[in-house]
Amino acid sequence: MIETIYIEKKIKDHPRTISILSKFKKARHIEIDKYGEVFNKHNQNFRIQKNNPALILAYKKEGYVLPAPEGFGIGSSKNYYFSHMYNCIYDCRYCFLQGMYSSANYVVFVNFEDFDDEIKKIIQKHPEDSLTFFSGYDCDSLALEKVTGFAKHIIPFFQKHPNVDVEFRTKSIQIEPFSLIKPMDNLVIAYSLMPDLISKSLDNKTPSILKRINAMSVLASKGWKIGLRFDPLIHGKDWKDLYTKMIIMVFNSIPVSSIHSVSFGPLRFPKQMFKDIFKLYPNEPLFLGPLLQNKGIISYSNEIEQEMTFFCKELTAKYINESQIFKCSA
Ligand code: SF4
Repeated sequence: MIETIYIEKKIKDHPRTISILSKFKKARHIEIDKYGEVFNKHNQNFRIQKNNPALILAYKKEGYVLPAPEGFGIGSSKNYYFSHMYNCIYDCRYCFLQGMYSSANYVVFVNFEDFDDEIKKIIQKHPEDSLTFFSGYDCDSLALEKVTGFAKHIIPFFQKHPNVDVEFRTKSIQIEPFSLIKPMDNLVIAYSLMPDLISKSLDNKTPSILKRINAMSVLASKGWKIGLRFDPLIHGKDWKDLYTKMIIMVFNSIPVSSIHSVSFGPLRFPKQMFKDIFKLYPNEPLFLGPLLQNKGIISYSNEIEQEMTFFCKELTAKYINESQIFKCSA
């Protein structure tokens, strides 16, 4: 429940601001000049703030669309991401956002049209390239959709640009933006997945794996393309058995023809980010596991990473073409 909403003065009369405020009738409103006044200040504690985050409605001035990190992609020659929001209503223990921001407040940028303009410019600049745009890098792309309406806004843009792909990456079971329109060949709804037992201990506040699979199954039955994102791969006791059961369950629930792509991503943190996250959760078994530091990155050893990726890839390749399987190293 949102109790406090900070509103940048510049967008206090924006129709989207008014619409979002109408969804939180009891919240107190505080006007601010810039969202940085209440977000990412050094004296905040992510863990404490996560118990009762505020919503910040803001105007994004720049950086609407950015190149995706090297190694992030599902087959296009150029990859970009955009984030209409910073932070997330979920609380996954491995989430890099908790190390990136010291504030757990949610920032929602209301000037969606500027994202459209920037994406359009990139499309015009790269007529010869295959492009994929990823929604939900600094947030979950759909988890707060009922409040923001961002997917509903941006989907028609991509309907007009069928030659470029867009991915909505999520752990939510929010299917509304897709349920009333015709499926699009250039749109992938990608679900982050891990074995249920591991998810129960790490994916705090998210819908269960079973619910995510059900949402995927409904969307697939309506003709939408589904992405499977086994990212991050989590090591632990019986991991082979757990991943095998989960992968079999997913492929038994979703027709192979509905699967756009599968990707595997390792668990990795930049050193300073890991230190910050570790300070928040010093007793978390995930961070006490077999992690090493290599060139400023904290991760499992190469052997563990490779063994996990190879094992899961082999299993997945029994169901789909290898050309649909990607390793995400970002
Ligand atoms: S769903 Fe994604 S963005 Fe949200 S807390 Fe989990 S890892 Fe972070």
